[in-house]
Amino acid sequence: MKAVYPGSFDPVTYGHIDIIKRAADCVDELIIGVLVNNEKKPLFSREERVEMLEQITSDIKNVTVKTFDGLTVDFARENGAGLLIRGLRAVTDFEYEMQIAQTNRSIEPAVDTMFFVTSLEYSYLSSTIVKEVARYGSDVSKMVPPVVARALKERF
Ligand code: ADP
Repeated sequence: MKAVYPGSFDPVTYGHIDIIKRAADCVDELIIGVLVNNEKKPLFSREERVEMLEQITSDIKNVTVKTFDGLTVDFARENGAGLLIRGLRAVTDFEYEMQIAQTNRSIEPAVDTMFFVTSLEYSYLSSTIVKEVARYGSDVSKMVPPVVARALKERF
């Protein structure tokens, strides 16, 4: 089974990495899809986000990193993936994620969505929070791997 884990990953956090590891254990092949046509202006370029993800996942054999724009289901279809992976942190994520999953299924019934519930220690974590903390010079070492912490330090 081939799956796509789509997201902005701006930047990747320990919360994402937890989902990547757990999802990679469940499928034959996991493609991390870095979304580039985001309406939000990202802090890190597509190349920077991909490079950080590649470094962090280099020891997981069945994980690859690609970028995409447009619809996630089209990206999944193009890559022969029948499954989308998403993480759920809290009930606040649920409504939005359910809407997206149902939309995706109505566009492409052959692509289903699987949710992973976040590990407790990362349930507060988001890329937005990490950027806020880093912007004011605080320590982000519990939130992101060293390569990302360094990139944030350089950026701010
Ligand atoms: P998007 O902009 O599509 O929400 P993100 O990079 O913020 O992209 O998130 C990608 C996926 O990772 C989403 O399914 C999100 O719920 C999940 N995710 C983000 N942070 C965490 C976390 N701390 N724990 C578990 N899942 C997370």
